Amino acid sequence: MATYAQAHRRSIQERDRFWREKAQLVDWQAPFETVLDYRRPPFARWFVGGRINLCHNAIDRHLGARSAQPALIYVSTETGAERSYTFGELAGEVNRFAAILKAQGVGRGDRVLIYMPMIPEAVFAMLATVRIGAIHSVVFGGFAAASLATRIDDARPKVMITADAGMRGGKSIPYKHLVDEALRLAQHPPGNVIIVDRKLDPEMSRVAGRDLDYATLAAAHAGASVPCAWLESSEPSYILYTSGTTGKPKGVQRDTGGYAVALAASMRDIFCVEPGETMFTTSDIGWVVGHSYIVYAPLINGSTTILYEGLPIRPDAGIWWRIVAQHRVRTMFSSPTAIRVLKKQDPAYMKKYDLSSLRYLFLAGEPLDEPTARWASDSLGVPIVDHYWQTESGWPILSAQPGIEDTPRKFGSPSFPVCGYDVKLLHEGTGEEVGSNEKGVLAIAPPLPPGCMTTVWGDDERFVSTYFSTVPGKQVYSTFDWATRDQDGYYFVLGRTDDVINVAGHRLGTREIEEAVQAHSGIAEVAVVGVADPLKGQIPVAFAVVKDPARVAAADGAAAVRREVMDTVDHQLGAIARPGAVHFVTALPKTRSGKLLRRSIQALAEGRDPGDLTTIEDPAALEQIRQALTGADSR
Ligand code: ATP
Ligand code: MG
Repeated sequence: MATYAQAHRRSIQERDRFWREKAQLVDWQAPFETVLDYRRPPFARWFVGGRINLCHNAIDRHLGARSAQPALIYVSTETGAERSYTFGELAGEVNRFAAILKAQGVGRGDRVLIYMPMIPEAVFAMLATVRIGAIHSVVFGGFAAASLATRIDDARPKVMITADAGMRGGKSIPYKHLVDEALRLAQHPPGNVIIVDRKLDPEMSRVAGRDLDYATLAAAHAGASVPCAWLESSEPSYILYTSGTTGKPKGVQRDTGGYAVALAASMRDIFCVEPGETMFTTSDIGWVVGHSYIVYAPLINGSTTILYEGLPIRPDAGIWWRIVAQHRVRTMFSSPTAIRVLKKQDPAYMKKYDLSSLRYLFLAGEPLDEPTARWASDSLGVPIVDHYWQTESGWPILSAQPGIEDTPRKFGSPSFPVCGYDVKLLHEGTGEEVGSNEKGVLAIAPPLPPGCMTTVWGDDERFVSTYFSTVPGKQVYSTFDWATRDQDGYYFVLGRTDDVINVAGHRLGTREIEEAVQAHSGIAEVAVVGVADPLKGQIPVAFAVVKDPARVAAADGAAAVRREVMDTVDHQLGAIARPGAVHFVTALPKTRSGKLLRRSIQALAEGRDPGDLTTIEDPAALEQIRQALTGADSR
């Protein structure tokens, strides 16, 4: 058996052979002629000439052996619904949806915008779209009308698919009126809107001629069978906008063949899920994790996937573990934020269910702090695998790959570069590679491996200027994240390159200061931002959540903890990094995908507009920041 190091070396040095082998994991209608066409760097075309279809690979090719195996298990703790679809049943649903789209005139290369809650019809819609060679653009069902309108105008869909409403925490959240508003704002609205009516919003209005009822269309197309459109490998499968944490969202364009191969390889080498086994990914279909590891990768692999609509702590903090036990989940994929939420609950919930089927818990999306990782690993008794990637990459960049070799994991590290990624840590000024334990920009020497974004939708120039132009004189892909590599080759992601504070000429990463603050045992969570200062350029300001709020309830208690926090930072990093102010709050503002809204916090701290807040998890958390900043006693 190859070791990880050998496999990775081979993936770079014998790139074409490596990927030719991996390409066997999926079905091709016609074989590819060339593994990689890289005549126009940095644009990489993988498996040139091969004809392939994502929906065929996710469904049709399993119909022989797996027709009766569950493919999609839907659990909603919002409505109480639980439904399971075998591969055979999923094929029926998707064929019917494909027929509906075709009847609306949707064809190869047309865009379909999907703005849906976490219901099976959203998955049918995605698979139906790629089945007919159209391109989906799923917009997270939580974005407000203006954000939706910009994405509509960028993607220019022919048809849009939505639902009357989503549900969150037991409350119905109407979607349709947001869609109406977005369509009023958009310059290029689609001709038709297909609405899945969950009967959650009795007030929903319809626009005659434009709005179509899914149930009515489905009845009209019952039993339909629609052949797969065979696409050339590099034809687009979908567009997905980045989360927008750092500014204007970019329309990430994904190919078809490269994506299928990369996902199939990742299921074996990274996530260790066999065909017939079950994967449970707790993300949302609106994010890249949902695209790749709720929908496409498990199905392409012939595995069962779980679609969960609900919160991690409702009806109680045992819900995810009940699902794991009931469906014999093999690998689970979640985010550090979700685990931190569970950490605040009664640990008895982790022990209540039979978790013997579970092999791994993978976590990604933001830095995983050691206490959280340790807590999860102790409570679950399974390895916690921190792994790092982006919307742009579509699948992991840094991760342990237990399917190749079970390398030991280090807390706080997403381990090593995944096979296919030629990862470099570059000095931001010189572009030279940095040494062990030195901080550098995490970069990828092109060509990017299969599955990664092929361009920015409709804007090749922006692809090159955004991602490949940060290092002077070198065409490398920048992740815009800082990292170090230790003497054993383990990577540590330190945060985003624009999260750097310049204090009197010293450059400090906000993440480093946050870790220093967290070394104080009374602090549960903290966000540090740089705030403009006439004297020093910028000063760090901390917003901390304490484990025991009683300690900071009175002014003298708060002052004492504040002093201790500052002492801790002095001790860990030095006085230069000491926060100019430490404010206590009970929650930090985050997006619904668990990312800290650092830019918004910083904007408030500098008296600016906090920007687009439509995906904020808990608006009250931002309000607390606002109040903390105006409160006299918090300084
Ligand atoms: P935008 O690019 O629009 O600002 P975004 O970067 O928040 O949005 P995503 O692509 O969803 O959108 O997030 C990827 C980023 O998340 C990475 O670049 C990195 O900053 C962070 N990240 C992901 N996984 C990890 C991890 N394991 N450890 C540390 N950071 C991580
Ligand atoms: Mg990003």
